[in-house]
Amino acid sequence: MRYFPLFLDLQGRRVVLVGGGTIAERKFELLRQTGPRVLVVAPTVSTALAAAAARNELVHAARAFDEPDLEGAQLVIAASSDPEVNRRVAAAAEARGIWVNVVDDLELSSGILPAIVDRSPLVVAISTSGSAPALARLVRERIEALLDDSLGRLALFLAGWRTAIKGAVADIARRRRFYDWLLHGPVADLVRRGREADAAARLGHALDAGAPLPTGRVSLVGAGPGDPGLLTLRALRALQSADVVLHDRLVTAEVLALVRREAELIEVGKGGAGHGVSQALINDLLVEHAARGRHVVRLKGGDPFVFGRGGEELEHLVRHGISFDVVPGITAALACAAYAGIPLTHREYSGSLRFVTAHCRESLDATDWRGLAQGRETLAVYMGVAMLGTLAAQLLRHGRAATTPIALIENGSRPEQRVVLGTLGELETVASAHGIGAPALLVVGEVAALAQQLHWFGAAPLGRTGTLDGAHRGPRISRKPAHALSSVA
Ligand code: SAH
Repeated sequence: MRYFPLFLDLQGRRVVLVGGGTIAERKFELLRQTGPRVLVVAPTVSTALAAAAARNELVHAARAFDEPDLEGAQLVIAASSDPEVNRRVAAAAEARGIWVNVVDDLELSSGILPAIVDRSPLVVAISTSGSAPALARLVRERIEALLDDSLGRLALFLAGWRTAIKGAVADIARRRRFYDWLLHGPVADLVRRGREADAAARLGHALDAGAPLPTGRVSLVGAGPGDPGLLTLRALRALQSADVVLHDRLVTAEVLALVRREAELIEVGKGGAGHGVSQALINDLLVEHAARGRHVVRLKGGDPFVFGRGGEELEHLVRHGISFDVVPGITAALACAAYAGIPLTHREYSGSLRFVTAHCRESLDATDWRGLAQGRETLAVYMGVAMLGTLAAQLLRHGRAATTPIALIENGSRPEQRVVLGTLGELETVASAHGIGAPALLVVGEVAALAQQLHWFGAAPLGRTGTLDGAHRGPRISRKPAHALSSVA
């Protein structure tokens, strides 16, 4: 580590700012919040700085920098547009042993200003040791997204309780777990929702009861279809605060990479025909981990309430008195359609949409085929690939035209995504010709054909192929390049 990180208390101390332009103005804005006595040295200053001087927030010396300006100063910021002035300021500061920052000049600076995320009193400072300020800004954006703006209020709230908590929970290890509960549990939730008084009541109650060790909770979280960019911010926060994550096989490695490093990962993926970890065991695991006081994230592909059995798991938690929250995810139908270029509804082709599952014999037997086959509505079928033949046969038998366009989207939103286009009559043939495997989603309806024009992600859609070799990838249907319309040259 090249630079020593430190937060300075500038309250009432003297800071010299050389320069009067917009950069100096920004530095002053930052300084002002920490309460130093600021001397601005510059022949002329911006209107904002002049106004601050008029309000006595700074003293303005309207002239060129002179070494005696540094008398009694503890920090100097050189923000002049004249490199020669900056050099003189740096040399003078160095000679007097005063910390100096020259804007955008690492060589001349004895200290650098970090990028900051301000959730006062919580402040995160980020530095790349001057090597890539743009990267520091990127990191700042990420952290900003991660730390919701209620954290400042939470820090203030906790400051008021620190002594009381220390008195009530003497043992340090126990206190740490109590704080875990405070930060991850209902008290923090209440503060986050602006209900400080309720949070105080809840915390006071816990302390009166001798600070019993926390009980855990479960977050039922939708992981989306695979592309980590499709996670919600709440999902990301849950992954970052989890003690244990129980995830399905559908959840991609890219999403799992975002889980807090210390968290335990447990795969509870169910195999195609309901093999693997049973639902009963998953339910038990959820209760068991939560009862140990942990924050359990139950991470499911897509949305947890769409063909995800999320409801059953929550019913189980209710029976065991375990608290939970639910974070929706982008379900496969929405993601696959978006990434394949299929508008699920379209004024000209379809005004309604149904989510259907065809995972196994039972789900097929229970299907209202007549309803599905009528009209022109779009069907988004979550399915086992093995069921395609039965599915197509039933739709055709109940009156859907064999020429109805279909799209099969395999691995939607992931780099390896494949889209196959065809018609209902040839559904099984095209699927096997291209060797479509799980996970794949089927779209039935006029809108499916629009993928031909509107595809934008990954490989171009595949079409019918003459060969019956399952491993063979059929010919690509090329589309007109977008520029063909406009460029005549
Ligand atoms: N809860 C999930 C669905 C679980 S059922 C959701 O909301 O998306 C599993 C089915 O979802 C798979 O058989 C497949 O049909 C579909 N599916 C999930 N992820 C997919 C993906 N990335 N690409 C294509 N289909 C997907």
